[in-house]
Amino acid sequence: MFLTEKHELIRKLAREFAEKELTSDILDQVEATGEFPEEIFQKMAKAGFFGIKVPKELGGSGADHRAYVIVMEEIAKVSGVASIYISSPNSLSGGPLLLDGTDEQKEKYLTPIVTGEKKLCFALTEPGAGSDAGGMTTTAVKDGDYYILNGRKTFITMAPLSDYAVIYAKTDVTKKTRGISAFIVDMKLPGVSCGKPEDKMGVIGCATSDIILENVRVHKSDLLGAEGEGFINAMKTLDVGRIGVAAQSIGLAQGALDEAIKYAKERKQFGRRIGDFQGISFMLADMATKLEAAKLLTYQAAYLKDMNKSATKEASMAKYYASEACNEICAKALQIHGGYGFIKDYKIERMYRDCRVFTIYEGTSQVQQMVISGQLLKK
Ligand SMILES: Cc1cc2nc3c(=O)[nH]c(=O)nc-3n(C[C@H](O)[C@H](O)[C@H](O)COP(=O)(O)OP(=O)(O)OC[C@H]3O[C@@H](n4cnc5c(N)ncnc54)[C@H](O)[C@@H]3O)c2cc1C
Repeated sequence: MFLTEKHELIRKLAREFAEKELTSDILDQVEATGEFPEEIFQKMAKAGFFGIKVPKELGGSGADHRAYVIVMEEIAKVSGVASIYISSPNSLSGGPLLLDGTDEQKEKYLTPIVTGEKKLCFALTEPGAGSDAGGMTTTAVKDGDYYILNGRKTFITMAPLSDYAVIYAKTDVTKKTRGISAFIVDMKLPGVSCGKPEDKMGVIGCATSDIILENVRVHKSDLLGAEGEGFINAMKTLDVGRIGVAAQSIGLAQGALDEAIKYAKERKQFGRRIGDFQGISFMLADMATKLEAAKLLTYQAAYLKDMNKSATKEASMAKYYASEACNEICAKALQIHGGYGFIKDYKIERMYRDCRVFTIYEGTSQVQQMVISGQLLKK
């Protein structure tokens, strides 16, 4: 309903890429080594997946939010972790630059991440400030032409792999969210270090770690946007980011549903295909219906963004519903596989683990409920 023929062509391209490059052998290797092959990362860059919404003059594809959703969907259907490498430059890390970067900052930092030459991460969360990101304690104190940054960011996707980080820090500790500013920090600057990569349950192959900042001198030219505007930058970035997680969720859920249908047609018990039992077939009907609803919410949020309309509530609804539905669909798909679903030889085992984080990162389901109800009760 929200998609055009052009979007379907993009879907074809992304689907063919996923089928050709993200083979079971490669994905097993990623799980075993914890590393994503640089060769495939570069092929994703070449396919234009890292700058889908970035203007052509900055090296991007100049496409829209719906195109981004479709690419994420097709890639996540096959690999949750590969879709994170696409979401990062397109939303969380590229987003703050697209929103508030000067022309020089965009050219210096955004173009190389779109082309795959450099990697950038988004660092908002702290050990004591997750859902309440405004409660951060990282500080940035002005010192001549520099800001001195001190603090610790946690759970930062791609931190150990990144060349740069967008860091949110307080330039005015007397103010709450209005005291937060955004900076682009070179990860090689003295005083920047990463914690040990987290040993995660899923999306293995995309390292997540703390970033520690000890008296890091950041030049004022790397302040992103105006002082005190950092929190608004982060929240606007997350508006789009949430559409990306919704897209990951519908993609991965479609992959799980496909696996469940295939298995329900193949597996025989009591002399019949298990799909012929109503206990299984009704489960499949529920899964497909919820997935369709999640898709419509996701495309709607992306469509509103493409029409330059406010989509805060709709993006939160899409993320909330799609990520919860994806978890439910993966759990049911695993159940349909019986004992085999618990064994790593079957794709559903990895899908079940990979989707677990979707209701957590970029705002938990409870935070989405806060955003949605906040919009409903707004004066
Ligand atoms: C794999 C992974 C990758 C991540 N990548 C990034 C990244 O790249 N950059 C980044 O900045 N962050 C990242 N995060 C952090 C992520 O966004 C946070 O984990 C998330 O926002 C939740 O914060 P928290 O873990 O501190 O949980 P908490 O905020 O402590 O929440 C704990 C529980 O309390 C609930 N809760 C909290 N407040 C309320 C409330 N007011 N009402 C009702 N319930 C509430 C939450 O919903 C949750 O269930 C990542 C996390 C993970 C796991």
